Amino acid sequence: MASEEEASLLVIVVDVNPIWWGQQAQREPQFTLSKCLDAVMVMGNSHLAMTRANKLAVIASHCQDSHFLYPCKSWRGEDNCGEEAPSSGDGKYELLAVANNLIAEEIKNVMSKTEVQGNSTDTMLAGSLAKALCYIHRVSKELEAGQDIKSRILVIKAAEDCALQYMNFMNVIFAAQKQNILIDACVLDSDSGLLQQACDITGGLYLRIPQKVAMAQYLLWVFLPDSEQRSQLVLPPRVHVDYRAACFCHRNLIEIGYVCSVCLSIFCNFSPICTTCETAFKIHLPQMVKPKKKKLKPLS
Ligand SMILES: [Zn+2]
Ligand SMILES: [Zn+2]
Repeated sequence: MASEEEASLLVIVVDVNPIWWGQQAQREPQFTLSKCLDAVMVMGNSHLAMTRANKLAVIASHCQDSHFLYPCKSWRGEDNCGEEAPSSGDGKYELLAVANNLIAEEIKNVMSKTEVQGNSTDTMLAGSLAKALCYIHRVSKELEAGQDIKSRILVIKAAEDCALQYMNFMNVIFAAQKQNILIDACVLDSDSGLLQQACDITGGLYLRIPQKVAMAQYLLWVFLPDSEQRSQLVLPPRVHVDYRAACFCHRNLIEIGYVCSVCLSIFCNFSPICTTCETAFKIHLPQMVKPKKKKLKPLS
């Protein structure tokens, strides 16, 4: 019975920020974007090979937008993958050959069309995660009655966090939590407070890998097992989570701030009117104490 097989959908979001990867290629020529995508393919193939019913999606998170690398428009579904698959000739599972070719083809398209407009050099990670959630929702809607699919998202994060995306990011995290979707994070460079919170809230794993060249090993060891199997493994200990929030006025990360009692917006400075919901606060500020005038003594 195929329906008894526990299917699982894995959505991998890869940060392909061209600026970060350009600098990375100079810092460490042995670990480039293509090496990273090789590791992603190893991970994706392993996931697909675990169970026939498993599904995979790969999203590239770019500066201004995000693209589906797999499945993508140039693929017309599972029905004709047999014909479209270039015969690997080595007895390889056709779906793996199709997936790898599509990912390689699409990432070439995405990166060759890259033109950085203006000064937005941040990765559109919140948008890509929202796309991942929408895709998961669509897949679960398309299931036949009685079927169930477990879904999770793996983020491969390269560039710095963008505090401007704080609001969208938190909305995505809470949406994922509500849908019981794990968010895992494999961080290549500096720690990401946003992803630490995402993993902590959704029950996923956050790991900043010490050696980038060993990325495929970390993916297979830490991120391939699902949440049930993980309980039986000895995994890297949980990190300290940076729970600072970004103020809505300047997008600075703050530890202590003012919170609107109506809409819960966060501000770093006191303002008598909330700029989000326009509530006026009646705050009794300490009255200015006027300095008493000293009575002039008559000159004697
Ligand atoms: Zn502020
Ligand atoms: Zn408010």
